[in-house]
Formats: sequence, C-alpha cells, structure tokens
Amino acid sequence: PASPLLEPITVRGTTLPNRVVMASMHLGLEDRVEDLGALAAFYAERAVGGVGLIVTGGLGVTPEGAVAPGAGLLATEEDARAHRTVTDAVHAAGGRILAQLLHTGRYARGADLVSASATRAPISRHTAHALTVGEIAELVAAYARSAALARSAGYDGVEVMASEGYLLNQFLAPATNRRTDAYGGDAARRRRFPQEVVAAVRGALGEDGLLSVRTSVTDLVADGQDGEEVLAAAAAFEAAGADLLMTGVGWHESRVPTVLTSVPRAAFLDATARVRAAVGIPVIAANRLTTPADAEAALTAGAADLVGLARPLLADPDWVRSIGRPGAEHLTPCIACNQACLDHVMVGRPVSCLMNPRAGRETDPRYARPVPVALGRRRRIAVVGAGPAGLTAAHRAAGFGHDVVLYEAADEVGGQFRLARRIPGKEEFAPALEHLRARAVAAGVDLRTGTAVTVDTLLTDDGAPAFDEVLVTAGVRPRAVDLPGMGEPGVPAVHAYDDVVAGRVSCGPRVAVVGAGGVGVDVAQLLAAPEGERPGEPEPITAWRARWGVTDDPSVRGGLTERAPRTPAREVVLLQRSPEPIGSRLRPTSGWVHRAELAALGVERMSGVAYERLSEDGLHITVPGDGPDERVPRVLDVTDVVVCAGQEPEAGLAGDLVAAGYLAGAVRTVGGAEDARELDAYRAMDAAVRAVTG
Ligand code: SF4
Repeated sequence: PASPLLEPITVRGTTLPNRVVMASMHLGLEDRVEDLGALAAFYAERAVGGVGLIVTGGLGVTPEGAVAPGAGLLATEEDARAHRTVTDAVHAAGGRILAQLLHTGRYARGADLVSASATRAPISRHTAHALTVGEIAELVAAYARSAALARSAGYDGVEVMASEGYLLNQFLAPATNRRTDAYGGDAARRRRFPQEVVAAVRGALGEDGLLSVRTSVTDLVADGQDGEEVLAAAAAFEAAGADLLMTGVGWHESRVPTVLTSVPRAAFLDATARVRAAVGIPVIAANRLTTPADAEAALTAGAADLVGLARPLLADPDWVRSIGRPGAEHLTPCIACNQACLDHVMVGRPVSCLMNPRAGRETDPRYARPVPVALGRRRRIAVVGAGPAGLTAAHRAAGFGHDVVLYEAADEVGGQFRLARRIPGKEEFAPALEHLRARAVAAGVDLRTGTAVTVDTLLTDDGAPAFDEVLVTAGVRPRAVDLPGMGEPGVPAVHAYDDVVAGRVSCGPRVAVVGAGGVGVDVAQLLAAPEGERPGEPEPITAWRARWGVTDDPSVRGGLTERAPRTPAREVVLLQRSPEPIGSRLRPTSGWVHRAELAALGVERMSGVAYERLSEDGLHITVPGDGPDERVPRVLDVTDVVVCAGQEPEAGLAGDLVAAGYLAGAVRTVGGAEDARELDAYRAMDAAVRAVTG
C-alpha cells in the first residue's frame, strides 16, 4: 500500500487491516446501561470508518477502582451481558474491539481510595489506603475475572491500563510506592503487582484473546520511573503475556501539558521509540499524532508499529479514509482544544467535539449526517458571516442539497478562529479553519468574501426576499469601554483586542490588559511571549521541552528537570474587575497551563480592580485594600491598554431583514451573533449543526 498506515498486521492470529487504533477515552456513555446503545453507535461509526482496532474507555474492575462512584464496570455477568450491544455493533461493522480494564487507585473520585502506599494525589482530596498483600491478591483475581467477562461479552480481548498514573503505574513509581514488602522497594518488586495482573489476565483471556497493556513511556512526575525502569516494565509486560503495548505519556497530576494544542505534535515520540527498541511485540504510539502525515512519520521513523488516536477519531470517524488524500477538505482535524471532550469528562458531561458536534450523538436525529433532500424541498439559503459557525452551517446546508451562498465581509474567512490561530500555542486553529473553508467550498457552497451584507444584498431588484432562509452567523465584535482621558495627548493608547491580535496595532514596552477571561489571558500571553515565539509558528519540540523541563536523560526520574527561564518581550499586567483569582474560570484541562505560562512570563495579575481614568502618568485604578471596603489607588505606568472586556453580538441584520419583508421564521441568528455572553466556539458550532435541517 501507498501508506505504511494501511499495511495489515497480524497479532495473535488476528489480522488488523491497518495500523490505526482507536485509543481509550472515557466518553461519558460507559456508565449507564441505557447509554450503551449510543456508545455502540459511536464505536460502530469508527469501525465503519476503517479503524483497525478500538479500545473502549476505562471500565472499572472493582467499584472502588472505577473513575467515579457509579462509573462503568466490567465486574459482573450482568455488566458483560449489557456490553453485548457494544461488541455486536462493532463486529457487525467489521471492526474489532478491546475492553480497557482500569483501576484508578488513588485517582478514584470517591473517598475509598486504595494505592500502593498511603499517599494522596495532588489532584485528589483523600489519602489512599495502602493495599494489604491479601487485597493485592484479590485485585489480581478481579482483573482476571473482568478479562474473562470481557471475552464472554464478545470483546476481542482487553487492554490493561498501566499508565497515566493509575493504580498499576502507582505501583511502578517510587513517588507512590513506598512499600518495603514483596511489592515495593527496588524496581523489580514495584513491578511485581502489575506483572501479576498481566499474567493473570493472559491466563483468563484464553489462547486467542488479544491483550494490550498501556504502559507509561515517561511519567512526568517527580520521583517517577527512570528511563531504565520504563523499559524494564515494558519488557516485563511482554514476558507476562502482552501482545501489544499501547503507550501513555505523563500522569493526570503532571504539571507538564501533554494533550493541549500548545504541545508540539509528536513531542514524546522519542520515548516511544526507546520502548519499541526494548521489546519484541508491536508498540502503539499515542499522544499528539493528529494527521495521517504525523502518524506515517511515526511509523517510518521506526518509533512504533501502530498509532493510537483518540481525539482525532472524535473529530473525524473517517480519519482512515483520509489517508493519502492531501486536500484539506478530506480530514476534519482535531485541534487539541479539549473544549468538548476532556473538559466535558472533567465535569461529568458526555463527550462531544468542537470540530464534529455529532461525536457522541450518533443516534440523535438532530445530528444526522446530511443527505440530499428531494429536488422540490431544496431551498435557497444565505449564510451571513464565515466564522466557524457560518462555515459549519453552510457546509451542512449544502450537504442537504440546498443552494447556499456564504457571505463574509472580510477578505478571508475565519471570525474568531482567525484571531485564535495567532495566539502562541493555538496554531492548530489555522489548519482547522482551512478545513472548514475547503469542505464548504467542496460541498458546493458559493463563498463570497469581501462582501459586507446589507439588507439590500439579500433582496431582489424588486425588493423581495432573494432567499428562502437566512442564517445570521456574523459572530461578535469586541465590547468597547469608555475611560475618562482616553484619546488625550500623552495618555496611554487604548486598543481593542482584535486589533492587537490581528497585528493591526503594536504595543509599547508596558501594557495593561483589561479583562482576564479567556481572551484576556490569551492576549497577555501573546504580548509577553519572548521574541522568537512568533505568533503563527509552532514551537520547535526542543524549545518546548526546555521551557517545561522535560528531559530524555534515562537516569532522571520522571523525565523532569529544571525549566529553562524565559525573557518576556514586555511587561504585562493583567487586570480584572471581579475579586476571584485570575484564571479560576478557565477550562479544567487548560486553565492550569495558562496560569503557569502567565507566571513563567512574569505577568502581574490583579483582581477586584476598578478602572478610574487615564492620564499622562498612566492608567489610574483602585484595588482592594486590607480592610473591609478599603480601596487603594494605584497608577500603572503603562504605554498601552488593551481592552478584553467581552463581546457584543453582531445581530442587527436579522431584525432589519424582517422589517424589509422576510418572514420572521425564515431569518435565524446562530452562534456568537445570538449569544455573545461567553465566547464559546463549541456552543456556536453545535448550534450551527442543529440550525440546519433537510
Ligand atoms: Fe479535538 Fe477539540 Fe474535538 Fe476534543 S473537542 S476532539 S480536542 S477538536
């Protein structure tokens, strides 16, 4: 085949048609029996898309080991019977599927935690109980029972989760295993329990059940495994009967980002390559492999035998079909934003995807894939505004066979995505935007950029409505603020954030950013980023590793070292009106990374600020004092003020169209133009999908 990704591989007598594995990801559909139909449909769609092997989200081997109280288990015959729905659907679609067996150990969300030793994870409220030797034996048996149940449920085998800082990884690392008995002390004894589990699972699976073990290639925590221990663990899993090694990077508590857009693609591939060189069984590379080109490069570099993808398969169930098709319209890329996937998992909401709101709703008719409607039902539709919502709505409308004109006032499509791609670490928004544009055009959308729409644009020469339907997706404009002294000679210049981000204005050496929501934080990072971290260019892996203190020196425990200092481009102070700490409302998976970046860049942060006026001395504010209701005046000697104080919807057109003769039901406002309160790309794109019907 033209691509190494399309070469079949045989593992324990099972031939996988290609090298693409859906890596495990909790979808929020595993927990309730009534959701298993939706889970089955989700996986079946990926199997139809050609994925060689699927691994489910983690299923608890015991109730205390599950992700959260009440989360999905594979511990009883009743559980196994319920899972038939999932395995039957995947097999009917021509796929193969493994059940991931998980014990979260000290990451469990309940109070009954267990681990190797009595430690508490920094992300947990409770201290774990150290397992006794008898309890360890019971757990080995529990894993074996779950593996047998998986086979009776129709799974082709199982994956044992031994990375990401879960229970088996907790035994492997000295950070969490302080035992002095047969299960702790030196590295061989720390490996003993994970190895016993793998051997017991091998025995329970029988001759033809596939066994994958997810092993950590680098722990990224202080006192984690060193490089040699990582390789010895992988070899031990092979010796205990694993057929495949799926790789994992970092623990959930790691303070090095591993799954965000700002992490360079393939940043941890070297560590995977070392594991592959140490074992004889196939190794699956996972982590920040987004496109077929990334995945092919991992295989041709000899770093792995297969690739594991989770989020990219949320974004595009037909990822495999895009292999070898270079046009941007073919692959819906994952942009590692986590907005609708991991951020949802963290708050117990079912997973979906910013780029593909159908993900996780495969059985919901509102998200059905469009098919052309009968000729007589085709409509002429105008979509006004080619940001992410407009591009999504126009593409979908064209898919139903409607005649679609998409108007954009700017010379380029993009809306808020056009700005986002200029923020350091958000470069992935650029290819995502190109995909949304290319797929709309390929679907037959008539895209007219540089066309500011007025009511007249959408009327015929006779003044009648020119379209059957209008979707106003014009997005938002930055909210302006009015400060006394603004514009007077010698006072700091005041800019709207979009002018700064788009590069239409440049700032001096000392900047106050007013408003510390997501946009304010991005703008502060952009302004403070050192020269050399230029907007729009992905950061080289070596520079990224140095500033996060990641090393591949095998003698260093956890793969962590000192972080390289950074020299900010300018002094930035980030201000917000509300009294809470800055950044506390950012998203769960990315907020801590932003807070760390702001600290590393020396950005000063002030909450509870009242803005008074501008003068030649700078920006006059008051901040809370020590006493109740006490306010302390301060003057910030800044050269510029950048306003990130929210957005206003661009929705005026809808009312004007109705006044000009459009039926009220024929004009709808969608996305940011409808609701600008919290700028949320996922909500806008989700609404765009639901707004368009056949
Ligand atoms: Fe990727 Fe974002 Fe979709 Fe998650 S929500 S799968 S990170 S594009």
